[in-house]
Amino acid sequence: MNLSFKNRIALYYMLATASITALVFVIIYLVAQSAMYNEIDSDLNFEAQMHRNEIFVRNDSILFFNKNEWAEREHIEVQANPVFIQIVNKEGTLMDKSPNLKEDNLRFHPNKAFFNQFDTKLNRRAIRQIQVPVEMYGEMKGYIMAAMSLEGSNIVLHNLKNTLLLLFPIVLIGLFFITRFLAGRSIIPVQTITQTADRITRNSLNERIPLPVNKDELFTLTSSINELLGRMQDAIEREKQFTADASHQFRTPLAVLQGTLEVLIRKPRTAVEYQEKIKYSIQEINRISEVVDQLLILARFDKANHQLTKQSVNIQTSIDDVLHRYRAAITDKKLAVNVKATNQSIITSDPYYLDLIFDNLLSNAIKYSYLNGTINITLSQESGQLHCQIKDTGIGIKAVDMDHIFIPFFRSDALNHKEITGNGLGLSIVKKACDMMGIRIVVSSEVREGSCFMLTFG
Ligand code: ADP
Repeated sequence: MNLSFKNRIALYYMLATASITALVFVIIYLVAQSAMYNEIDSDLNFEAQMHRNEIFVRNDSILFFNKNEWAEREHIEVQANPVFIQIVNKEGTLMDKSPNLKEDNLRFHPNKAFFNQFDTKLNRRAIRQIQVPVEMYGEMKGYIMAAMSLEGSNIVLHNLKNTLLLLFPIVLIGLFFITRFLAGRSIIPVQTITQTADRITRNSLNERIPLPVNKDELFTLTSSINELLGRMQDAIEREKQFTADASHQFRTPLAVLQGTLEVLIRKPRTAVEYQEKIKYSIQEINRISEVVDQLLILARFDKANHQLTKQSVNIQTSIDDVLHRYRAAITDKKLAVNVKATNQSIITSDPYYLDLIFDNLLSNAIKYSYLNGTINITLSQESGQLHCQIKDTGIGIKAVDMDHIFIPFFRSDALNHKEITGNGLGLSIVKKACDMMGIRIVVSSEVREGSCFMLTFG
């Protein structure tokens, strides 16, 4: 059965209330029944005891002290529920009875416990009866029987039962509709959320769901959805920016390439001229393929279930490998590179991504260093963690740009150092690799003083 949310709440509420109401109604009925029986039973007890004091035994007969007075009293008293009195001998044979019994006799039940009230019939009408034994010197002489009609009580109980049975479905149906109405009202904010969410498309991600007035669960849900929309909007903005930046990175070298080749074919050139232009073109093609390689690395990070190949890696050896790769550039710039090692530089990590991190950080340190600069690489152990600091004495990074250096294609103050080539992808690769491998990276820098990248291996 496909019930709406509000109908489901109303139904569950109704089922729960139905059980409780049924229980309450049964208790009401039983309490009323027990109260009525208690009343009748105590009346019967009283009457039986009273009459017990008004009789005496002669030989085997049970007689009233003053039969006429008793008969008259019984006659005069107008009782709402008259008490029937009957005296029988020990065999149950009738000896005397109250006039209100007229032609009828109470039936003696020898097997019923004495002094205990029980239900029986008088002339096919329900009565409650008690049988009290009459003894003389320890010898059983007969019984006083007292009885009262149950008809009045039964009518009251019957009416009570009918009223409760009628009330039961009315209460439930009423509760169902009230709960349905209230549930409907309380899910109005959910409908607003659905409508707004339906309206939002990729191009209208700036729209937000109005927050409900009350700070309840729906308020939290709405805030969470709004925050999610915010994050999606940021992600899409970043994606658009990324695409624009990537296109720009390709457009510039492609335009240069196109221009160079167009100029080249306009007229015949000397072999030297051809060589020079082709070399230049190859340089531009290299730049393009470098960007493509780095974009591929970045794309690989975003792949779900990215697997790392972890093994024991000596950090010092990794750093030495990278420095060896860049030895020409280090020599060209006459840089002093100092490596301060520790005896504990072996960690479990993915060697490929570790090399990627050191390659980008060290190539930047070399690239952004002044001539005759110094690069200090320090490995140290602190509170069981391995730290690696790469400190250069280069151009430094502007304080305002510090928050952006890990964003793809971002280049700090690029116009002021046009001679240093780059595409702004290196540090974003470093950041993603660090995040993936649980390495903390902290940067500090001072313009024209140098930069320091600190890695902490968890
Ligand atoms: P790029 O290819 O431009 O070097 P990166 O992503 O590696 O790209 O670096 C982003 C920017 O951060 C660089 O353009 C540069 O402005 C700055 N930067 C990174 N490392 C250094 C460093 N060691 N010294 C000075 N600036 C740096």
